[in-house]
Amino acid sequence: MRTTVYWIEGDGIGPEIWRAARPVIDAALAAAAPEHALEWVELLAGEKAVKATGSPLPEATLQTLRTAAVAMKGPLGTPVGTGIRSLNVALRQGLDLYACIRPVAHLPGLETPVKHPERVNMVIFRENTEDVYAGVEFAACTPEARKLVTFLREELGVSKVPETAAVGIKPMTEEGSKRLVRRALRFALERGLPSLTLVHKGNIMKFTEGAFRQWGYDVAAQEFGDRTCTEKEPLPGRLVVKDRIADAMFQEALLRPEQYQVLATPNLNGDYLSDALAAQVGGLGLAPGVNMSDTLAFFEATHGTAPTIAGQDKANPGSILLCGALMLEHIGAAAAAERLRKAVAKAIAARTVTQDLADQVPGARVVGCREFGEIVGGLL
Ligand code: NAD
Repeated sequence: MRTTVYWIEGDGIGPEIWRAARPVIDAALAAAAPEHALEWVELLAGEKAVKATGSPLPEATLQTLRTAAVAMKGPLGTPVGTGIRSLNVALRQGLDLYACIRPVAHLPGLETPVKHPERVNMVIFRENTEDVYAGVEFAACTPEARKLVTFLREELGVSKVPETAAVGIKPMTEEGSKRLVRRALRFALERGLPSLTLVHKGNIMKFTEGAFRQWGYDVAAQEFGDRTCTEKEPLPGRLVVKDRIADAMFQEALLRPEQYQVLATPNLNGDYLSDALAAQVGGLGLAPGVNMSDTLAFFEATHGTAPTIAGQDKANPGSILLCGALMLEHIGAAAAAERLRKAVAKAIAARTVTQDLADQVPGARVVGCREFGEIVGGLL
């Protein structure tokens, strides 16, 4: 079976992490699932695209991605003076990549700030298109903000918003929340996991975050009612759908992580949780992720362009390698995904790491980006 993988090299350390990782992804597939083959097709974005076309996000790239099923990207810098606030946000919104999915688990050998990082094994489903990230904001004391405040005061009787306030809007919809939770429910059910937790701040923001919680329970009951139950009324053999207030969830993640497998949450909570959990397992620079629409799975290294080390063979290709494993799993080559993941884990357990991880691995032997890739390749 042949799968076309569209790939975007990315800026900064993008070229070197790809050079190190791509042959290893191909080799993992060849070794463990030879009935599959990848056809890599490069698409332009970022600085490379500016040089070739004058635009950091050419229409041709978007056009191809609109009909693509699988894509991967390196990190993209923020283009200066182009009118685009963030290429990543432009891609997410332009392609309706509404689910940001981040698996978080510990790799043995990495020192972490907690005693039992191995108890963390969670997948975060973060809503990716709504919430305060919709970008509807007005600076304090501008005519727009004043107009909005006046409207609130005069039309809606809201007197507690000061005239000098900056104002941001937090739109959240039933459709947007349900499609995210639906995806998380399917994921948990397909894998036979014990629980899914809706993480929200509904005690304070009742009609946005509180509604997310309710819509989450609704979609579980309406569409998966025969396979799910709630914490209050547990039924044997069923996926338990529960909810936690976001601040309590941060405590739970530290104190009782083994009680959580899948988290489904609105955009801002998900942003905080993804990085906090990645740090908890010592793997900020290693965290893989995927952004999904209904048609496209777009895998991305979650770190940035690391401009201060770009071009010096110091970057850690671990995140893009683990993204490769997620991608292989997604196309149905689970054995290859597992082999690649294990090879990365073995390299780290053997204390061969790139410079960024040296402090977290006692007695580490520091290697360059290229060599790390070769070592992982040798461990497949
Ligand atoms: P960054 O992730 O690039 O760097 C933060 C720190 O981590 C730096 O010390 C960097 O050297 C180090 N680091 C990051 N990735 C590493 C890797 N693979 N190997 C070794 N060290 C690594 O974050 P930043 O400095 O805030 O952002 C730099 C640029 O990247 C900005 O233009 C930002 O917009 C962009 N960015 C892009 C993405 C993305 O494309 N998904 C994500 C975050 C930031």
